[in-house]
Amino acid sequence: MESLFGDLYDTDDSKTNLFADIILPVPIPKMFTYKIPRNLSEDIGIGFRVIVQFGKKKVLTGIIGKVHQKPPVAYEAKPILDILDNHATVNPLQIRFWAWMSEYYCCHIGEVMNAALPSGLKLSSESKIQINPTYDSDTSPYPLDDREEILLQALANKEEMSYEDCEAVLGIKSIHGIIKSLVIKEAILVFEQVKEKYSPKVESRIRLAKEYVQDKSLLETLFNEIASKPKQEEILLKYLQEIPVYKKPELNQKGLDKKVFTDAGLSVSSLKTLIKNGILEEYKIIISRFEEMEGSEEQIVLSPQQLTAQQEIKTQFEEKNTVLLHGITGSGKTELYVTLIKEAMEGGSQVLLLLPEIALTTHMVGRLRQVFGSKMGVYHSKYSDNERVEVWNGVLSGKLSFVIGVRSSIFLPFDSLGLVIVDEEHESSYKQYDPAPRFQARDAAIMLSWIHQAKTLLGSATPSFESYYNARLKKYGYVALDIRYGEAQLPEYQLADMLVDKKKNLLKLEFTRLLREKIQEALKNQEQVLIFQNRRGYAPYISCEDCGWIPECEHCDVSLTYHQFGEEMRCHYCGFKEKVPHVCPACGSNKLSAVGLGTERIEESLSLLFPEARIARMDLDTTRSKYGYQRLLEDFGGGNVDILVGTQMITKGLDFDRVTVVGIMDADRILYFPDFRAGERAFQQITQVAGRAGRRDKRGTVIIQTRKPEQAIFGQIMSGDYKNFYVQEMGERQRFFYPPFVKIIKVTTRHKDYKTAERAARSLHNLLSEIQVKKILLGPEKGLVGKIKNQYIFESIAKLDKSGNAQAHFKLELQHLMEELQTHKEFRGVRFVVDVDPY
Ligand code: ADP
Ligand code: ZN
Ligand code: ZN
Repeated sequence: MESLFGDLYDTDDSKTNLFADIILPVPIPKMFTYKIPRNLSEDIGIGFRVIVQFGKKKVLTGIIGKVHQKPPVAYEAKPILDILDNHATVNPLQIRFWAWMSEYYCCHIGEVMNAALPSGLKLSSESKIQINPTYDSDTSPYPLDDREEILLQALANKEEMSYEDCEAVLGIKSIHGIIKSLVIKEAILVFEQVKEKYSPKVESRIRLAKEYVQDKSLLETLFNEIASKPKQEEILLKYLQEIPVYKKPELNQKGLDKKVFTDAGLSVSSLKTLIKNGILEEYKIIISRFEEMEGSEEQIVLSPQQLTAQQEIKTQFEEKNTVLLHGITGSGKTELYVTLIKEAMEGGSQVLLLLPEIALTTHMVGRLRQVFGSKMGVYHSKYSDNERVEVWNGVLSGKLSFVIGVRSSIFLPFDSLGLVIVDEEHESSYKQYDPAPRFQARDAAIMLSWIHQAKTLLGSATPSFESYYNARLKKYGYVALDIRYGEAQLPEYQLADMLVDKKKNLLKLEFTRLLREKIQEALKNQEQVLIFQNRRGYAPYISCEDCGWIPECEHCDVSLTYHQFGEEMRCHYCGFKEKVPHVCPACGSNKLSAVGLGTERIEESLSLLFPEARIARMDLDTTRSKYGYQRLLEDFGGGNVDILVGTQMITKGLDFDRVTVVGIMDADRILYFPDFRAGERAFQQITQVAGRAGRRDKRGTVIIQTRKPEQAIFGQIMSGDYKNFYVQEMGERQRFFYPPFVKIIKVTTRHKDYKTAERAARSLHNLLSEIQVKKILLGPEKGLVGKIKNQYIFESIAKLDKSGNAQAHFKLELQHLMEELQTHKEFRGVRFVVDVDPY
């Protein structure tokens, strides 16, 4: 490989050599130093994407983190093979942010890079196409902005576009990104072997491929692969001959277009086989979805309370970087955001608005789109990679100065943020569990703001204790908005005692009489009902009535959830599924019954209790498709559904006129979760879902079903007494050393062998206990779920003093100890996972 590029590198050592430290998407704790070839040194800088060789075989895309003149000591620097763009993809502020994240969350900067860049901006490490470093100039005669347009036109009008045309239109570098693998890869495969046998059309493609790909050994490997599979070869050749290059079905926006294939006498499945075997690649072309759309010029009229709150936020921003807006449900936080965003943008700043995962398709996005038009970008987790790259590039080019997005939008290439808003800041979905970086997007957003010298506004009706605590310490500003907008009143709460009803035989299919009556009344008045239960599936498990047998996952330490749909039992940890047995495998009894309550079962019960009602369900299982969530909301909003059953998906952001009854099926289940945040979460979830009721003229009713109505938390939720609840819970947290009084770091040890996992966990734990910082160290204990995907799990928990540098010191030592232990032979294959501020 080296020889191929040899002529590129200046051997004249009289000039100083330049080196670059490169962030690579590999789990290695540092950056690697490469040499910058002379011919590239002018065009390269921090944040540029480059191609480098890593190890013997791998070719990786990396990002330049630093440029300097110091050659590495321990190894000889290899040269950078190529640059991918003529501009930096990542700016220095982002690199600072990545560095902070890797340090704070104890992960590698390459892992942060992996999370930060949409995969469209990374070349896969398995990419079989080699990079030809000899094309270094952008040869297209067309201006950059026109090229995509021209190409699309060509696609629409022409049967086939020649390679030369394509090159001219796109410029050779763009071909590298978009067209290259399509043209090249297919041709590589038939190179030489078939060139005599087939038409000149194929041959010319082969010629072009040959010019492009110079590594002969690579070609040979690929030929050999296909040569032994005559059937596949036949399909491939047919494909090449019958379907013009630039009318490939992949280029169809909707994905594979069957008709084009069938017309050519090919089946989609045969091509899928080729794709699966890595012989063809399937991908879509980027077609801009940005419809030019003007924002509205409407004057926003804030209510007097909103106006006061807005003024106060601005005043507090003069002193504080972060302000907590504690605004009850329906107080109109969105309109406040709109005015603040507008002002920031008019001042020339960029703005980021974070929303929890699933609130993104709600009315808020529609409302903001109406105001900001196509200056606003949306960054959704269900977007395809191309769509994400598009938002990324929109921010980069300045086309998008405002983005509304899920947690990963903190990684977009902003360079002049003025305002970051975190809506529903208490939401646990801001925390990324897996993989690393295990960051909390709210906390990271505050750091991002700080790096940009921007302001952060945290909004919630039920603030997280962390944020409220900081507000009380005066670290954050605090602004309250405690009346609903317009005529709307907060809902009325009623407790329904399930045990009392059960005794009196009034509990039907787990619905109390009160809840049934309220639903009936709502249906009669043509109003809508929401029923909340935070558990999907039909029932948490099934059990044998005779011997007590409960089916468990083969790979995890959990019982299988029963899903009526498909008569299946599924593991919610690893996806394992099994058919429900007809008889108990332990005792042969046929009395197997479902225990507990999931959303599927509630849906079924409702249809039995209210046969005339139109019922729908919203949970992970019904919203997997990209627009599943939106469609359900449209159905509900359009009045095609009377009762909507759902998990926490229905608790946030929904703003519908006709919801008057909200039922909480089992409040105890939320309260008795084994976690120090259970109380806080119960308060939040119940208040939030209740907040969906009665958002217009008619007051709503919320029914809380419980077996223990006397618990204090219900009184506090019902009177909206957040502060009292907070004070009480915080007493407990202080007494038992929980956040926000301490910092928690959780270290998980995983291995497929129980003993090895335990030993490794114990060894690490003992070493951790010797670190000289003020701390409480708990464990190592078997995880709450002791085995997931055949890996045994042990956990140690460190509670660290928040003052001084206890945390930083502990983290450094921890990293070091893990690396050290992993070199021990007996711990080969052990994985340590660090979670800072776990949930
Ligand atoms: P929150 O997010 O605080 O729960 P929303 O922002 O959803 O509340 O506002 C509740 C409802 O009141 C929405 O339908 C919104 O359109 C309306 N609303 C709030 N403020 C205004 C305003 N200043 N002018 C017009 N409508 C408003
Ligand atoms: Zn049995
Ligand atoms: Zn499992």
